Amino acid sequence: MIIGVPKEIKNNENRVALTPAGATELVKRGHQVFVQHTAGEGSGFPDDEYTAAGAAILPTIEDVYAIAEMIIKVKEPIEPEYKLIKEGQLLFTYFHFASYEPLTKAMVENKSVCLAYETVEKVDRSLPLLVPMSEVAGRMSVQKGANYLEKPLKGRGILLGGVPGVLPAKVLILGGGIVGTQAAWMAAGLGADVTIMDVSIPRMRYLADVMPANVKTMMSNEYNVRTMIKDADLIIGAVLIPGAKAPHLITRDMLKDMKPGTVLVDVAVDQGGCIETCKPTTHENPTYIIDDVVHYCVANMPGAVPYTSTLALTNATLPYAIQLANKGWKKAAQENPELVPGLNVIHGDIVYKAVAEAFDMDY
Ligand code: NAD
Repeated sequence: MIIGVPKEIKNNENRVALTPAGATELVKRGHQVFVQHTAGEGSGFPDDEYTAAGAAILPTIEDVYAIAEMIIKVKEPIEPEYKLIKEGQLLFTYFHFASYEPLTKAMVENKSVCLAYETVEKVDRSLPLLVPMSEVAGRMSVQKGANYLEKPLKGRGILLGGVPGVLPAKVLILGGGIVGTQAAWMAAGLGADVTIMDVSIPRMRYLADVMPANVKTMMSNEYNVRTMIKDADLIIGAVLIPGAKAPHLITRDMLKDMKPGTVLVDVAVDQGGCIETCKPTTHENPTYIIDDVVHYCVANMPGAVPYTSTLALTNATLPYAIQLANKGWKKAAQENPELVPGLNVIHGDIVYKAVAEAFDMDY
Protein backbone atom coordinates (compact mmCIF):
# COMPACT_ATOMS: atom_id res chain seq x y z
CA MET A 1 0.00 0.00 0.00
CA ILE A 2 1.07 3.60 -0.52
CA ILE A 3 1.06 5.40 2.83
CA GLY A 4 1.24 9.16 3.26
CA VAL A 5 2.28 11.05 6.38
CA PRO A 6 1.46 14.77 6.11
CA LYS A 7 2.88 17.41 8.42
CA GLU A 8 0.26 18.51 10.95
CA ILE A 9 -0.97 22.02 10.21
CA LYS A 10 -3.20 22.60 13.21
CA ASN A 11 -1.92 25.43 15.41
CA ASN A 12 0.84 24.30 17.78
CA GLU A 13 0.59 20.63 16.80
CA ASN A 14 4.09 19.15 16.79
CA ARG A 15 3.27 15.47 16.86
CA VAL A 16 3.66 13.23 13.82
CA ALA A 17 1.69 10.07 13.04
CA LEU A 18 4.60 7.84 12.07
CA THR A 19 8.14 7.66 13.46
CA PRO A 20 11.19 6.41 11.56
CA ALA A 21 10.74 3.16 13.52
CA GLY A 22 7.20 2.87 12.19
CA ALA A 23 8.37 3.63 8.64
CA THR A 24 10.91 0.81 8.96
CA GLU A 25 8.15 -1.66 9.92
CA LEU A 26 5.90 -0.66 7.01
CA VAL A 27 8.69 -0.61 4.42
CA LYS A 28 9.90 -4.01 5.64
CA ARG A 29 6.44 -5.38 4.80
CA GLY A 30 6.64 -4.11 1.24
CA HIS A 31 4.71 -0.85 1.61
CA GLN A 32 5.73 2.53 0.22
CA VAL A 33 5.90 5.35 2.76
CA PHE A 34 5.85 9.03 1.76
CA VAL A 35 6.51 11.60 4.47
CA GLN A 36 6.06 15.34 4.01
CA HIS A 37 9.22 17.41 4.35
CA THR A 38 9.83 18.28 8.07
CA ALA A 39 6.72 16.36 9.24
CA GLY A 40 8.68 14.75 12.08
CA GLU A 41 10.81 17.74 13.00
CA GLY A 42 8.59 19.01 15.83
CA SER A 43 8.86 15.61 17.53
CA GLY A 44 12.61 15.37 17.01
CA PHE A 45 12.65 13.19 13.89
CA PRO A 46 14.47 14.85 10.95
CA ASP A 47 13.79 13.90 7.30
CA ASP A 48 17.03 11.94 6.97
CA GLU A 49 15.93 9.46 9.66
CA TYR A 50 12.86 8.67 7.55
CA THR A 51 14.90 8.27 4.36
CA ALA A 52 17.32 6.00 6.23
CA ALA A 53 14.25 3.95 7.22
CA GLY A 54 13.30 3.55 3.54
CA ALA A 55 10.63 6.26 3.30
CA ALA A 56 10.60 8.98 0.64
CA ILE A 57 10.28 12.67 1.46
CA LEU A 58 7.79 14.78 -0.50
CA PRO A 59 8.01 18.57 -0.52
CA THR A 60 4.36 19.55 0.01
CA ILE A 61 1.18 18.42 1.72
CA GLU A 62 -0.54 18.33 -1.71
CA ASP A 63 2.04 15.79 -2.93
CA VAL A 64 1.38 13.53 0.06
CA TYR A 65 -2.41 13.54 -0.28
CA ALA A 66 -2.19 13.08 -4.06
CA ILE A 67 -0.13 9.89 -3.92
CA ALA A 68 -1.38 8.08 -0.79
CA GLU A 69 -3.95 5.30 -0.53
CA MET A 70 -3.83 5.62 3.27
CA ILE A 71 -3.14 8.87 5.11
CA ILE A 72 -1.93 8.51 8.71
CA LYS A 73 -2.30 11.67 10.76
CA VAL A 74 -2.58 12.86 14.35
CA LYS A 75 -5.27 15.56 14.41
CA GLU A 76 -8.48 15.73 12.42
CA PRO A 77 -8.13 17.30 8.96
CA ILE A 78 -8.77 21.03 9.06
CA GLU A 79 -10.38 23.16 6.39
CA PRO A 80 -7.37 23.62 4.03
CA GLU A 81 -6.97 19.82 3.96
CA TYR A 82 -10.58 18.99 3.07
CA LYS A 83 -10.07 19.56 -0.64
CA LEU A 84 -6.90 17.44 -0.72
CA ILE A 85 -8.67 14.25 0.38
CA LYS A 86 -9.61 11.91 -2.46
CA GLU A 87 -12.60 9.64 -2.93
CA GLY A 88 -11.85 6.21 -1.47
CA GLN A 89 -8.76 7.40 0.41
CA LEU A 90 -8.36 5.82 3.85
CA LEU A 91 -7.75 8.31 6.67
CA PHE A 92 -6.47 6.95 9.99
CA THR A 93 -6.32 9.73 12.59
CA TYR A 94 -8.13 11.39 15.51
CA PHE A 95 -11.38 12.92 14.18
CA HIS A 96 -13.70 13.69 17.14
CA PHE A 97 -16.47 14.03 14.56
CA ALA A 98 -19.31 14.60 17.01
CA SER A 99 -17.80 17.88 18.15
CA TYR A 100 -17.55 19.51 14.69
CA GLU A 101 -20.22 19.33 12.01
CA PRO A 102 -18.29 20.97 9.11
CA LEU A 103 -15.63 18.25 9.38
CA THR A 104 -18.26 15.50 9.34
CA LYS A 105 -20.00 17.03 6.30
CA ALA A 106 -16.70 17.46 4.45
CA MET A 107 -15.72 13.82 5.02
CA VAL A 108 -19.16 12.64 3.89
CA GLU A 109 -18.91 14.74 0.74
CA ASN A 110 -15.40 13.66 -0.26
CA LYS A 111 -16.37 9.97 0.06
CA SER A 112 -13.24 8.98 1.93
CA VAL A 113 -13.02 6.16 4.49
CA CYS A 114 -12.52 7.63 7.98
CA LEU A 115 -11.16 5.39 10.72
CA ALA A 116 -11.02 7.38 13.95
CA TYR A 117 -8.38 6.65 16.59
CA GLU A 118 -10.73 7.68 19.40
CA THR A 119 -13.38 5.04 18.67
CA VAL A 120 -11.14 2.02 18.06
CA GLU A 121 -12.27 -0.20 20.91
CA LYS A 122 -11.05 -3.38 22.57
CA VAL A 123 -13.46 -6.13 23.65
CA ASP A 124 -13.22 -4.94 27.26
CA ARG A 125 -14.52 -1.58 25.94
CA SER A 126 -11.22 0.21 26.60
CA LEU A 127 -10.02 2.73 24.00
CA PRO A 128 -6.44 1.78 23.18
CA LEU A 129 -5.67 4.87 21.09
CA LEU A 130 -6.88 7.32 23.74
CA VAL A 131 -5.10 5.71 26.68
CA PRO A 132 -1.56 6.85 25.73
CA MET A 133 -2.59 10.51 25.73
CA SER A 134 -4.30 10.11 29.11
CA GLU A 135 -1.08 8.59 30.41
CA VAL A 136 0.89 11.58 29.18
CA ALA A 137 -1.60 14.12 30.58
CA GLY A 138 -1.81 12.31 33.93
CA ARG A 139 1.93 12.27 34.44
CA MET A 140 2.26 15.83 33.22
CA SER A 141 -0.45 17.12 35.56
CA VAL A 142 1.80 16.58 38.59
CA GLN A 143 4.81 18.13 36.86
CA LYS A 144 2.70 21.21 36.08
CA GLY A 145 1.08 21.29 39.51
CA ALA A 146 4.44 21.10 41.30
CA ASN A 147 5.68 23.94 39.17
CA TYR A 148 2.68 26.22 39.74
CA LEU A 149 2.85 25.63 43.50
CA GLU A 150 6.01 27.75 43.46
CA LYS A 151 5.55 31.23 44.90
CA PRO A 152 6.72 33.23 41.85
CA LEU A 153 3.97 31.45 39.87
CA LYS A 154 1.40 32.45 42.54
CA GLY A 155 1.28 29.06 44.24
CA ARG A 156 1.47 28.32 47.97
CA GLY A 157 5.22 28.00 47.87
CA ILE A 158 5.27 24.40 49.01
CA LEU A 159 7.59 21.68 47.73
CA LEU A 160 5.61 18.59 46.74
CA GLY A 161 7.83 16.13 48.57
CA GLY A 162 8.73 18.36 51.54
CA VAL A 163 12.21 17.81 53.04
CA PRO A 164 13.34 15.93 56.16
CA GLY A 165 11.61 17.63 59.07
CA VAL A 166 8.98 19.33 56.87
CA LEU A 167 5.72 17.69 55.81
CA PRO A 168 5.12 17.06 52.10
CA ALA A 169 2.32 18.68 50.10
CA LYS A 170 -1.15 17.14 49.94
CA VAL A 171 -2.29 16.09 46.49
CA LEU A 172 -5.96 15.32 45.90
CA ILE A 173 -6.83 13.44 42.70
CA LEU A 174 -10.47 13.34 41.58
CA GLY A 175 -10.99 10.21 39.48
CA GLY A 176 -8.72 7.16 39.66
CA GLY A 177 -8.80 6.07 36.01
CA ILE A 178 -5.89 6.30 33.57
CA VAL A 179 -5.12 10.00 34.19
CA GLY A 180 -5.63 9.76 37.95
CA THR A 181 -3.50 6.64 38.33
CA GLN A 182 -0.61 8.07 36.37
CA ALA A 183 -0.84 11.32 38.34
CA ALA A 184 -0.81 9.35 41.60
CA TRP A 185 2.35 7.45 40.60
CA MET A 186 4.15 10.70 39.84
CA ALA A 187 2.99 12.55 42.96
CA ALA A 188 3.76 9.55 45.16
CA GLY A 189 7.19 9.19 43.58
CA LEU A 190 7.95 12.79 44.51
CA GLY A 191 6.99 12.04 48.11
CA ALA A 192 3.66 13.87 48.31
CA ASP A 193 0.78 12.82 50.51
CA VAL A 194 -1.73 11.61 47.89
CA THR A 195 -5.46 10.86 48.05
CA ILE A 196 -7.39 9.47 45.07
CA MET A 197 -11.18 9.87 45.12
CA ASP A 198 -13.37 7.73 42.90
CA VAL A 199 -16.92 6.37 42.87
CA SER A 200 -15.88 2.88 41.81
CA ILE A 201 -15.12 0.63 44.76
CA PRO A 202 -13.50 -2.07 42.57
CA ARG A 203 -11.23 0.58 41.08
CA MET A 204 -10.23 1.86 44.53
CA ARG A 205 -9.64 -1.72 45.67
CA TYR A 206 -7.26 -2.16 42.76
CA LEU A 207 -5.52 1.16 43.47
CA ALA A 208 -5.16 0.33 47.15
CA ASP A 209 -3.47 -2.90 46.08
CA VAL A 210 -0.93 -1.45 43.66
CA MET A 211 -0.15 2.02 45.04
CA PRO A 212 2.59 2.82 47.54
CA ALA A 213 1.77 3.68 51.16
CA ASN A 214 1.67 7.43 50.57
CA VAL A 215 -1.40 7.01 48.30
CA LYS A 216 -4.81 6.59 49.96
CA THR A 217 -8.22 6.14 48.40
CA MET A 218 -11.51 7.74 49.43
CA MET A 219 -15.08 7.57 48.16
CA SER A 220 -15.96 10.55 46.00
CA ASN A 221 -19.07 12.35 47.23
CA GLU A 222 -19.85 15.99 47.93
CA TYR A 223 -19.25 15.75 51.67
CA ASN A 224 -15.83 14.12 51.28
CA VAL A 225 -14.78 16.49 48.49
CA ARG A 226 -15.71 19.51 50.63
CA THR A 227 -13.67 18.12 53.52
CA MET A 228 -10.59 17.23 51.48
CA ILE A 229 -10.22 20.43 49.47
CA LYS A 230 -9.63 22.48 52.63
CA ASP A 231 -6.29 20.82 53.19
CA ALA A 232 -5.16 20.09 49.64
CA ASP A 233 -2.26 21.94 48.04
CA LEU A 234 -2.67 20.48 44.55
CA ILE A 235 -5.97 19.18 43.19
CA ILE A 236 -6.05 17.22 39.93
CA GLY A 237 -9.35 16.77 38.06
CA ALA A 238 -9.37 13.42 36.22
CA VAL A 239 -13.00 12.35 36.16
CA LEU A 240 -14.66 10.85 33.12
CA ILE A 241 -18.21 9.69 32.60
CA PRO A 242 -18.11 8.15 29.11
CA GLY A 243 -20.22 10.04 26.60
CA ALA A 244 -21.25 12.74 29.08
CA LYS A 245 -20.03 16.09 30.33
CA ALA A 246 -17.83 15.81 33.42
CA PRO A 247 -19.74 16.50 36.68
CA HIS A 248 -18.68 19.63 38.61
CA LEU A 249 -17.28 18.05 41.77
CA ILE A 250 -15.78 21.38 42.83
CA THR A 251 -18.18 24.29 42.53
CA ARG A 252 -17.48 28.01 42.53
CA ASP A 253 -18.46 28.44 46.19
CA MET A 254 -15.91 25.83 47.31
CA LEU A 255 -12.91 27.95 46.24
CA LYS A 256 -13.24 30.11 49.35
CA ASP A 257 -12.65 27.01 51.50
CA MET A 258 -9.27 26.36 49.87
CA LYS A 259 -5.92 27.69 51.04
CA PRO A 260 -4.62 30.68 49.06
CA GLY A 261 -2.16 29.44 46.45
CA THR A 262 -3.82 26.05 46.02
CA VAL A 263 -3.29 24.80 42.47
CA LEU A 264 -6.06 23.17 40.42
CA VAL A 265 -5.08 21.17 37.32
CA ASP A 266 -8.31 20.13 35.59
CA VAL A 267 -7.24 17.52 33.06
CA ALA A 268 -10.91 16.74 32.36
CA VAL A 269 -11.32 20.23 30.89
CA ASP A 270 -11.68 18.68 27.41
CA GLN A 271 -14.98 17.15 28.59
CA GLY A 272 -16.17 20.35 30.24
CA GLY A 273 -14.02 20.02 33.36
CA CYS A 274 -14.86 18.63 36.83
CA ILE A 275 -14.13 21.99 38.48
CA GLU A 276 -16.81 24.59 37.78
CA THR A 277 -14.41 27.51 37.46
CA CYS A 278 -12.16 25.76 34.91
CA LYS A 279 -12.28 27.05 31.34
CA PRO A 280 -9.97 25.79 28.58
CA THR A 281 -6.58 27.51 28.41
CA THR A 282 -3.59 27.16 26.07
CA HIS A 283 0.10 26.36 26.50
CA GLU A 284 0.86 30.03 25.72
CA ASN A 285 -1.36 31.22 28.53
CA PRO A 286 -2.02 28.19 30.71
CA THR A 287 -3.21 29.60 34.04
CA TYR A 288 -5.49 32.16 35.63
CA ILE A 289 -6.42 32.93 39.22
CA ILE A 290 -9.80 33.07 40.91
CA ASP A 291 -10.08 33.69 44.67
CA ASP A 292 -6.29 33.19 45.07
CA VAL A 293 -6.60 29.69 43.58
CA VAL A 294 -4.39 28.94 40.55
CA HIS A 295 -6.27 27.24 37.68
CA TYR A 296 -4.36 25.27 35.02
CA CYS A 297 -6.77 23.98 32.35
CA VAL A 298 -4.86 23.29 29.13
CA ALA A 299 -7.07 21.21 26.86
CA ASN A 300 -4.26 19.54 24.89
CA MET A 301 -1.62 18.90 27.52
CA PRO A 302 0.24 16.18 25.51
CA GLY A 303 0.96 18.80 22.83
CA ALA A 304 3.67 20.30 25.04
CA VAL A 305 5.72 17.11 25.02
CA PRO A 306 5.57 16.03 21.36
CA TYR A 307 8.55 13.68 21.56
CA THR A 308 6.95 11.55 24.31
CA SER A 309 3.43 11.95 22.93
CA THR A 310 4.40 10.95 19.40
CA LEU A 311 6.19 7.84 20.61
CA ALA A 312 3.35 6.91 22.99
CA LEU A 313 0.71 7.43 20.30
CA THR A 314 2.56 5.64 17.51
CA ASN A 315 3.42 2.69 19.78
CA ALA A 316 -0.35 2.19 19.99
CA THR A 317 -1.38 3.09 16.41
CA LEU A 318 1.34 1.26 14.46
CA PRO A 319 0.01 -2.30 14.93
CA TYR A 320 -3.34 -1.15 13.49
CA ALA A 321 -1.65 0.81 10.68
CA ILE A 322 0.26 -2.33 9.71
CA GLN A 323 -2.95 -4.38 9.61
CA LEU A 324 -4.64 -1.73 7.47
CA ALA A 325 -1.69 -1.53 5.11
CA ASN A 326 -1.33 -5.31 4.78
CA LYS A 327 -4.99 -6.13 4.27
CA GLY A 328 -6.84 -2.96 3.29
CA TRP A 329 -9.47 -1.52 5.65
CA LYS A 330 -12.27 -3.98 4.77
CA LYS A 331 -10.37 -7.20 5.39
CA ALA A 332 -8.51 -5.71 8.37
CA ALA A 333 -11.83 -4.78 10.02
CA GLN A 334 -13.31 -8.21 9.22
CA GLU A 335 -10.39 -9.89 10.92
CA ASN A 336 -9.94 -7.48 13.83
CA PRO A 337 -13.21 -6.43 15.54
CA GLU A 338 -11.37 -3.65 17.40
CA LEU A 339 -11.18 -1.70 14.15
CA VAL A 340 -14.93 -1.90 13.40
CA PRO A 341 -16.08 0.81 15.85
CA GLY A 342 -13.20 2.93 14.56
CA LEU A 343 -14.99 3.24 11.21
CA ASN A 344 -16.97 6.47 11.30
CA VAL A 345 -17.55 7.41 7.65
CA ILE A 346 -17.35 5.11 4.61
CA HIS A 347 -17.71 6.41 1.05
CA GLY A 348 -20.18 9.14 2.02
CA ASP A 349 -22.11 7.16 4.65
CA ILE A 350 -21.90 7.81 8.39
CA VAL A 351 -21.51 4.40 10.02
CA TYR A 352 -21.00 5.50 13.63
CA LYS A 353 -24.33 6.06 15.36
CA ALA A 354 -23.31 8.79 17.84
CA VAL A 355 -21.88 10.93 15.02
CA ALA A 356 -25.04 10.66 12.92
CA GLU A 357 -27.18 11.46 15.98
CA ALA A 358 -25.03 14.46 16.91
CA PHE A 359 -26.03 16.21 13.69
CA ASP A 360 -29.33 14.51 12.93
CA MET A 361 -27.78 12.94 9.83
CA ASP A 362 -28.56 9.59 8.18
CA TYR A 363 -26.96 6.52 9.69
P1 NAD B 1 -10.95 7.03 32.79
O1 NAD B 1 -12.28 6.59 32.27
O2 NAD B 1 -9.80 6.10 32.73
O3 NAD B 1 -11.12 7.47 34.33
C1 NAD B 1 -12.17 8.24 34.81
C2 NAD B 1 -12.41 7.88 36.27
O4 NAD B 1 -13.34 8.82 36.81
C3 NAD B 1 -12.99 6.49 36.48
O5 NAD B 1 -12.19 5.72 37.36
C4 NAD B 1 -14.37 6.77 37.10
O6 NAD B 1 -14.80 5.79 38.02
C5 NAD B 1 -14.09 8.11 37.77
N1 NAD B 1 -15.28 8.86 38.14
C6 NAD B 1 -16.49 8.96 37.51
N2 NAD B 1 -17.32 9.75 38.21
C7 NAD B 1 -16.62 10.17 39.30
C8 NAD B 1 -16.92 11.02 40.39
N3 NAD B 1 -18.13 11.60 40.53
N4 NAD B 1 -15.96 11.23 41.33
C9 NAD B 1 -14.73 10.67 41.22
N5 NAD B 1 -14.40 9.86 40.20
C10 NAD B 1 -15.33 9.62 39.25
O7 NAD B 1 -10.62 8.40 32.05
P2 NAD B 1 -9.16 9.03 31.80
O8 NAD B 1 -8.56 8.41 30.58
O9 NAD B 1 -8.41 8.98 33.07
O10 NAD B 1 -9.53 10.53 31.41
C11 NAD B 1 -9.92 11.50 32.39
C12 NAD B 1 -10.19 12.81 31.70
O11 NAD B 1 -8.98 13.37 31.19
C13 NAD B 1 -11.12 12.72 30.47
O12 NAD B 1 -12.01 13.81 30.49
C14 NAD B 1 -10.18 12.84 29.30
O13 NAD B 1 -10.83 13.32 28.14
C15 NAD B 1 -9.22 13.84 29.87
N6 NAD B 1 -7.94 14.01 29.14
C16 NAD B 1 -7.52 15.30 28.98
C17 NAD B 1 -6.30 15.56 28.37
C18 NAD B 1 -5.82 16.98 28.29
O14 NAD B 1 -4.86 17.25 27.57
N7 NAD B 1 -6.43 17.92 29.00
C19 NAD B 1 -5.53 14.51 27.86
C20 NAD B 1 -5.99 13.20 28.03
C21 NAD B 1 -7.22 12.95 28.69
